[in-house]
Amino acid sequence: IKCIGVLTSGGDSPGMNAAIRSVTRAAIFNGIRVKAIYRGYKGLITNEITEFQTQNVSNIIQQGGTILKSARCAEFRTPEGRKTAYENMKAAEIDALVVIGGDGTFTGARIFAQEYNVPIVGLPGTIDNDLYGTDSTIGYDTALNTIIEAVDKIRDTATSHERLFFIEVMGRDAGFLALNSALASGAEAAIIPERETQEDQLEELIKNGFRKSKNSSIVIVAESEITGGANALAELMHKEHPEYDVRVTILGHIQRGGSPTAHDRIIASRMGVAAIDALLDEQRSIMIGIVNDEIVHVPFTKAIKDDKPVDETLLGVLSILSI
Ligand code: ATP
Repeated sequence: IKCIGVLTSGGDSPGMNAAIRSVTRAAIFNGIRVKAIYRGYKGLITNEITEFQTQNVSNIIQQGGTILKSARCAEFRTPEGRKTAYENMKAAEIDALVVIGGDGTFTGARIFAQEYNVPIVGLPGTIDNDLYGTDSTIGYDTALNTIIEAVDKIRDTATSHERLFFIEVMGRDAGFLALNSALASGAEAAIIPERETQEDQLEELIKNGFRKSKNSSIVIVAESEITGGANALAELMHKEHPEYDVRVTILGHIQRGGSPTAHDRIIASRMGVAAIDALLDEQRSIMIGIVNDEIVHVPFTKAIKDDKPVDETLLGVLSILSI
């Protein structure tokens, strides 16, 4: 391998810049040239490719978002789109890729790698933590911290007005952010898609008498396309339990922003170096993960399997602590 391409794709996450920096510097350290590809797979197709030196990634480790931009690219889903991408890649003398993104990014990478025999290594860049085979994804810890900061503020007003707040957090049908932010912010409950239906979880909460001895309650709700998230739950509450003064806050895109935490900067840095090591070791079609603080290699097919389990014992901890 003489030259690698690096790109960020799908939803951005804090720490992607730290990963770009690490991949770039580790490659150059090993005598490999680096081509930066802008706007994810789109930039491969539209040929937005620039050579990077070490100084191109100076002063970015602390920045949120991604200096390479990100995009969703429908064309890469077609064989014609991927053909153009491959031709541009070859013209730029790129012979391997490091892709930073989520399950969609790895799905595309797997198909592209199979079609054109391209060595590709992925780094898990998503706030949702929904990739199998890694304890944590780059951006997840920062998003958790952003959420608890926001919840702390909402609690001030919730307490003053004796209200019940449903706070909706991101997660793309995964409950990691909801469950762990609920624990860390002292919320009364978390409603997550992994467990029964959200309506059932709500009924259970009411049955258990939550808020009885309290002057405010906060329930963290995972966004979910299936149930409609916090708004749908609030409507249900309004209909069936009008005695509660319910408010909804949807945190939205503030969860994606901000300077990455130390944890995210460190795992991004370690994973970037590991990606280059893996390519030099002739590994391909794998995601770099970290399990029990050690680097692991996870085949794309496993990483994207969509069945990473949340630790449901945490729901028990949450319910003990919210009496
Ligand atoms: P996040 O989880 O943060 O949203 P993601 O990587 O899952 O990130 P997606 O938008 O799902 O984000 O995927 C990123 C890009 O990967 C898509 O825009 C598309 O270009 C490519 N991609 C996704 N699925 C496929 C597929 N089946 N075939 C080819 N390319 C794909």
